[in-house]
Amino acid sequence: MKMLRRTSAAGLVLIVALLAVGCGADGDGGGSASADGRLQIDTTVAPITSIVANIVGDRADVKGIVPEGTNSHTFEPQPSVAELLSEADVVYINGLVLEEPTKELADQNLKDGAELVELGILTIPEEEYLYDFSFPEEGGKPNPHLWTDPTLALKYAEIVKNDMSERDPDNAEYYADNYEQFSEVIDEFDAAMREAFATIPKRELLTYHDAYAYFAKTYDWEVIGAIQVSDFEDPTPGEIADLIDQVKEAGVPAIFGSEVFPSPVLEQIGREADVEYVDVLRDDDLPGEPGEEEHSWLGLMRFDFITMTEALGGDPSALEAFEIRNVAPDEALYPQ
Ligand SMILES: [Zn+2]
Repeated sequence: MKMLRRTSAAGLVLIVALLAVGCGADGDGGGSASADGRLQIDTTVAPITSIVANIVGDRADVKGIVPEGTNSHTFEPQPSVAELLSEADVVYINGLVLEEPTKELADQNLKDGAELVELGILTIPEEEYLYDFSFPEEGGKPNPHLWTDPTLALKYAEIVKNDMSERDPDNAEYYADNYEQFSEVIDEFDAAMREAFATIPKRELLTYHDAYAYFAKTYDWEVIGAIQVSDFEDPTPGEIADLIDQVKEAGVPAIFGSEVFPSPVLEQIGREADVEYVDVLRDDDLPGEPGEEEHSWLGLMRFDFITMTEALGGDPSALEAFEIRNVAPDEALYPQ
């Protein structure tokens, strides 16, 4: 259900915008929310906000909804987010059932002509969805972490580029140019990743939060286990005992926890299996502060991949030599 009361106001704003700047936007049925004709974009998790910012730069207003450092899988937006969503022209979400409460709120509050775009669903076909321990098939929620695989993150960027070029044709060239540059940076990053990963004796991952399933497939890693059960509770004592055996058998030097999910259980598994417990991986909490170069999707992934390579006895120097650079000014709003 949409909030029809907003339609006439938005229409009026569009007319004012056309008079003021004489822009040739066809309105796409809904028109633009801001007085200066800039498109209003909402996003959900911070890595998606950063990918969108790399494409749209300073040509549109980008606002993230999910605060960094919260559990994005159980996140429920405050009622005040309804207001933000009612002003959006487009909402980019991950999809794959990651942000259902936000999606629902958007469905109820989007103005006429505004759209919700599920990047993950447009990136891979359903038969490529992955299900596993934390995201079992019977739960109906596929593993949603496509963005930790740079080849798939690049597809997100491509979808945003194409979508924005249609909504805002005046800036299509700018978006295409940013996408070209972003794609070159990701190719370079991909090469640095492969070089660093080749030095790891055993590319085997045991994580707390199961964020690397697609990444593992693309970069020839094996996810030997994830500890977080699908309801985000701690595993049972029986499951813990199994995991300790599994870690011992695998013979990996380190297991990985996540900053967002402190896990005494993983610490216990590490201690009892006598392996290092590295608890700093992140899947959607960007390093640094907004405005800093490392506070970006690229900064996030570089940090994680260096951490994994080092802890598993590889040489991360190719990744350390890779310079993080975002291709467009990041003026997005990241709620903290
Ligand atoms: Zn996650």
